[in-house]
Amino acid sequence: MGELLNRIEQKAEAVRASLAEAVRTHTPVAYANSLGAEAMVLTDIIWTHVPEIDVFSIDTGRLHQETYDLMEKLQRRYGRTLRLVHPDAGALERLSAHRGVNGFYHSLDARLECCQVRKIEPFKRAIAGFGAWITGVRREQSAVRALAAPLEWDAQYGLYKLSPLLEWSEAEVWQYIRSHKLPYNVLHDRQFPSIGCVPCTRAIQPGESRRAGRWWWEHPESRECGLHPRERRATAQA
Ligand code: SF4
Repeated sequence: MGELLNRIEQKAEAVRASLAEAVRTHTPVAYANSLGAEAMVLTDIIWTHVPEIDVFSIDTGRLHQETYDLMEKLQRRYGRTLRLVHPDAGALERLSAHRGVNGFYHSLDARLECCQVRKIEPFKRAIAGFGAWITGVRREQSAVRALAAPLEWDAQYGLYKLSPLLEWSEAEVWQYIRSHKLPYNVLHDRQFPSIGCVPCTRAIQPGESRRAGRWWWEHPESRECGLHPRERRATAQA
């Protein structure tokens, strides 16, 4: 156990160093906080050691109450305010009128349009003017994420993308959370390894992949919200 903790602290130190380097090289830097387990590690490191990084989350308007409760816990623990970015009200009204309030269940196009209005457009506004954004993506999370690079030019959004937890295992993430007594979303204790919007997230069964509970009615290859590409489009840059 002592060896595991040492290894995790060394990895955390490497994350701190890469974040500090990103601030030096690509300032200003923003962290798109997903509020998942990986986000607890990154929030702890950023708000404790690299506080100049802007931390924001996208409030799609369809999040779980447990996720809002977690935001409160984080803000109390660190004495910081999470920047919340909301969908454009007019776009949301047009979406509901056109697709219906739960239109995302009816077709892939409707689901992607909902993610566009509730996540992608707010995300674009949130990162406007930044030199780099940070994600909590890990290589083992999906076949697509396995192809990510620690630092790459994000051609889709026109800034650098840094994924400092890419080589972390799920066990290491949880060991860091427990050893630092960090808050986390209580839905993780109810078989929700990946948490998004209420209508598009369910608990998984034993043996299912960790992203099986996201948009479970779709083909596995379409199960991304659009913030991370479904195919590799960008060339890795050191
Ligand atoms: S995850 Fe579901 S509810 Fe949330 S933005 Fe995407 S389609 Fe809409």
